[in-house]
Amino acid sequence: MERRPPSVDRLARSLAGSGLPHALCVEVARAAVGDDDWEAAPARADELAAALLGPVVNASGVLLHTNLGRAPLSAPAGGGPVRYQSLEIDVSSGRRGSRQGPGRPADLLRQLTGSEAALVVGNGAGAILLALAATAAGQRVSVGRGQLVEIGGGFRVPEVVEQSGCHLVEVGTTNRTRAADHAAAAAEVVLHVHASNYRIVGFTEQPTIAQLAGLGRPVIADVGSGLLDAACPWLPGPPPPWLADEPAVRQALDDGAALVTFSCDKLLGGPQGGVIAGRRDLVEACARHPLARALRPGGLVLQALSDVLLAYLRRDVATTVPFWRMALTPVGELRDRAAALGIGAVVDTVAVPGGGSVPGQEVPSAGVALDGDLAAALRRHHPPVMARVEAGHTICDLRTVDPADDDVLKAALAPLVHQDP
Ligand SMILES: *Cc1c(COP(=O)(O)O)cnc(C)c1O
Repeated sequence: MERRPPSVDRLARSLAGSGLPHALCVEVARAAVGDDDWEAAPARADELAAALLGPVVNASGVLLHTNLGRAPLSAPAGGGPVRYQSLEIDVSSGRRGSRQGPGRPADLLRQLTGSEAALVVGNGAGAILLALAATAAGQRVSVGRGQLVEIGGGFRVPEVVEQSGCHLVEVGTTNRTRAADHAAAAAEVVLHVHASNYRIVGFTEQPTIAQLAGLGRPVIADVGSGLLDAACPWLPGPPPPWLADEPAVRQALDDGAALVTFSCDKLLGGPQGGVIAGRRDLVEACARHPLARALRPGGLVLQALSDVLLAYLRRDVATTVPFWRMALTPVGELRDRAAALGIGAVVDTVAVPGGGSVPGQEVPSAGVALDGDLAAALRRHHPPVMARVEAGHTICDLRTVDPADDDVLKAALAPLVHQDP
């Protein structure tokens, strides 16, 4: 029997059930016909539909999962009806306003960190690039050899320093660097980088920011994944043990850092973004630099960031910011939710902060364990569920699952297990 290709148009219309817009169905159909593989067109369309950006249920127990967008986001305030945004207008005068003006995220960050000024850019890498380019281009920047960090995704401190137009001066050794090493190098600027995703243990020494500031040159401190304030005044109780060693922006500034850079989506629990905070003259130099425009975030990010920062100022992050809500849920509550699923065995688990922050720290947690490796089947669910597999068991950790998604998790698990009637 001769196989004759269907018309692209007819094939595309037959793919409508995939939920893809017609233009994408046409593309799938054309490619499938071109490959002499039109019978696979429905499978190809389903594959593309599954590849679209969309929500997933994170049952991995990794709170800041880099592949799942790091911090979980709630819908921005004003989500729902169609709305414009007061992005660059001064509502009281009706004149053009500034993204840097009073009440804007940068201003809230100034208040929360105790800095003279702050600037928001697209991510932490952009913050350090801009801070160096705007304040130290053409100058020498000293960095301790134990802090020449690589963050996932190809961000390497030595390369960023070079890209910013500064000259890198390596000082000290891998395990030990002293303020005296920076003093001897006599570079115009000192860069201190938080070793956020690794630890050097044993015979080690790193200068404190206070010691570096004592050298009398501007210190730029990249705390990357740190906290706004070590005292965590926005939490209802003392900071949990897994936060104990995190560097904090407010304390770095108090210790004399001229500028501090960090990520909005790590321990802040906000949308992807980066912050430069510190001395007003230096932050203003950053804001005036041509790269500032190229690196600035859009209104969606600024709105989400504003919502999170207001929660810090209200001190109700534990109930309103999803990252903190998940991180601080008592284990007993997670066990109760696991039992209520009625599927698999309730188990105590270990969640992690993740996202390249706080290596080696563990957050006690609970979830359900099921026999076998169900990870791929769970990813095929709509929305996909991300679980982890340990020693032949599939673990669904509830610390990273929003309670509103427990039913989704249950529906994803139910068809995969044999249950007694
Ligand atoms: C994560 C991190 C960065 C980069 O931040 P992004 O927001 O991922 O670009 C830079 N420095 C340190 C120390 C970090 O931990």
